[in-house]
Amino acid sequence: MLAAPGNAGIGRDAALVDVDMMSPSSVTAYAKSHGVDLVVVGPEAPLVAGVADALREHGIPVFGPGKRAAQLEGSKAFAKRIMENANVPTGRAVHARTLDDTAAALDEFGAPYVVKADGLAAGKGVIVTDDRAAALEHASAFLPSGPVLVEEFLSGPEVSLFFLSDGDTVRPLSPAQDFKRALDGDQGPNTGGMGAYSPLPWLADQFGSVDAFVDEVTETVAKPVIAELDRDGSPFIGLLYAGLIITEQGVRVIEFNARFGDPETQIVLPRLQTSLAELLMAAATGTLEDQPRPVFSDDVAVTVVLASEGYPASAVTGREITGLDEAAAVEGVHITHAATALEGDTLIATGGRVLNVVGTGSTFAIARSRAYEAIAKIGLEGGQFRTDIAAKVA
Ligand code: AMP
Repeated sequence: MLAAPGNAGIGRDAALVDVDMMSPSSVTAYAKSHGVDLVVVGPEAPLVAGVADALREHGIPVFGPGKRAAQLEGSKAFAKRIMENANVPTGRAVHARTLDDTAAALDEFGAPYVVKADGLAAGKGVIVTDDRAAALEHASAFLPSGPVLVEEFLSGPEVSLFFLSDGDTVRPLSPAQDFKRALDGDQGPNTGGMGAYSPLPWLADQFGSVDAFVDEVTETVAKPVIAELDRDGSPFIGLLYAGLIITEQGVRVIEFNARFGDPETQIVLPRLQTSLAELLMAAATGTLEDQPRPVFSDDVAVTVVLASEGYPASAVTGREITGLDEAAAVEGVHITHAATALEGDTLIATGGRVLNVVGTGSTFAIARSRAYEAIAKIGLEGGQFRTDIAAKVA
């Protein structure tokens, strides 16, 4: 296995290679010269840059949508258009190109205000606020170079649900919930996600069972979107990530991503009992229909993110991380790396979110206490984590 650029965690299983992942021709040339069987494109930027298209043109199996289908994540306006055409339930929205249009839309929808940048903004594109001036200021950072989306505020619990697709067949994974705010009690600024858990037993209260929820979203969201992209001439081969809010009026899509999402992936995949490699290869080669529906363990999983001092505003990097072996030795625990590197034999933090400490077990109480027992053994000066991840789940 090869990874580019990778980090110290995946470096234990894969050779880290120096390929410019943003360059379609470099990735393709490398994959060809090394006889690579399958390329999995992780982040959104190389998808939007057309890396998957180039690989596919050269006959190399690739898990990841082409440039146009990746616009589902790359452009909120494109995503809204696809949802409209496919009749997928989502919040009402207005595309504004000027501050005057933005102000008019804010007044139409009223507070709380939701303003989103149209393009990729590395998690900084969305503001949800009661402060009209702050909403306008957020919009002014993206205007006039691109439109902004002013959206109606949706209220309810958020759920992330992943789907595998080969462009035609759709296979759901298991639902997860992440914790976006930096501090306990959902306080502090938004982050990329400070923790997550899976599955979501409380879905059964409203939908009868977790499976019934998954089936409903598969039928009303994933299948229509995949079919619409196919009609659009841009089949979606890869991971469709649906960010959902369960409102009193029903399930609404708030966003799509075109790749595995972080930190939900860290707690969904450990519960997957079907071979991930076979599923990804089947999606890449158009044979997902021959695969059974992915099966998940009854065990639950909780991940707690260890972040660097100062995250999310500005993370202090370059500090040493200690105690990982002791942490990973806790029963039912494993650790996935986000922003780490080896400097000689020393493991150092290289970014904001550094590690995911994943606890699994037969109950949330067990999985949580394992994750927290493990994270307490890790040393990182100034390191921060939330202490209430999955605390309220039965
Ligand atoms: P997004 O990048 O679109 O997922 O937005 C980031 C976060 O902003 C979401 O996870 C929600 O917590 C929040 N958000 C986005 N859209 C809405 C909305 N229409 N109503 C309420 N909250 C929203």
